[in-house]
Amino acid sequence: MVGRIHSKESFGTVDGPGIRYVLFMQGCPMRCLYCHNPDTWEVGGGTEITVDEIISEYKKNESFYKNGGITVTGGEPLLQVDFLIELFKTAKKKGIHTCIDSSGITFNPKNEDYIAKLDVLMQYVDLVMLDIKHIDPEKHIKLTAKDNANILGFAKYLDERNIPVWIRHVVVPGYTDDAVYHKKLGEFLATLHNVKALDVLPYHTMGAKKYDELGIKYPLAGVEALPKSEAVKAKSTIMEAFREARINSK
Ligand code: SF4
Repeated sequence: MVGRIHSKESFGTVDGPGIRYVLFMQGCPMRCLYCHNPDTWEVGGGTEITVDEIISEYKKNESFYKNGGITVTGGEPLLQVDFLIELFKTAKKKGIHTCIDSSGITFNPKNEDYIAKLDVLMQYVDLVMLDIKHIDPEKHIKLTAKDNANILGFAKYLDERNIPVWIRHVVVPGYTDDAVYHKKLGEFLATLHNVKALDVLPYHTMGAKKYDELGIKYPLAGVEALPKSEAVKAKSTIMEAFREARINSK
């Protein structure tokens, strides 16, 4: 079996714990306005790679990955669930820490075959980094062109299976910088019991260059980068709502 990747990175430091071998999987059904990797969108594009190739490249630098492991990101890695099962099953046999960085968009509780595959995959997953782009369904559609019901459903699915999760939320001026929704996000996260970390990131404009290179119009042209202090503030609001909801639920 082969996977389709956009690219790979041998020394990733922002995609999970420690230094990691990172695979940027090809294909994504979302269209986030601030996406940095529009060249990963096309399903069926990219290049092929096998599990053996990945493991042998990992082994070459194994000593660097002592506190790290393998991360699959994208694009949307869960589009290639069969390949991930094979990759992570092999990785776990070799004692390698495994992480999926996902938007959760492929989750669909009505698709029994897919859920059965996810159930198998989760046996070999140590950590999921889950992006929650917006807690409000309508605003989520405006930001990503997709509804968030299945994404929130995926968060609950991971909670039921006790899979550790790091949540990521990007604060974009004019789109996700409203404290009302930060509170709602905090309240939602309080219903989960598997959240180990929350990363709230400020929107930046570095992705715009790639759109120019690809000849695509950058949808957020003119939106200024968010000062880091605003992301810190948003995180406090989320955490405050999280703690309050926890207290109220006791
Ligand atoms: S989910 Fe990720 S890869 Fe897909 S459009 Fe959004 S930011 Fe880009």
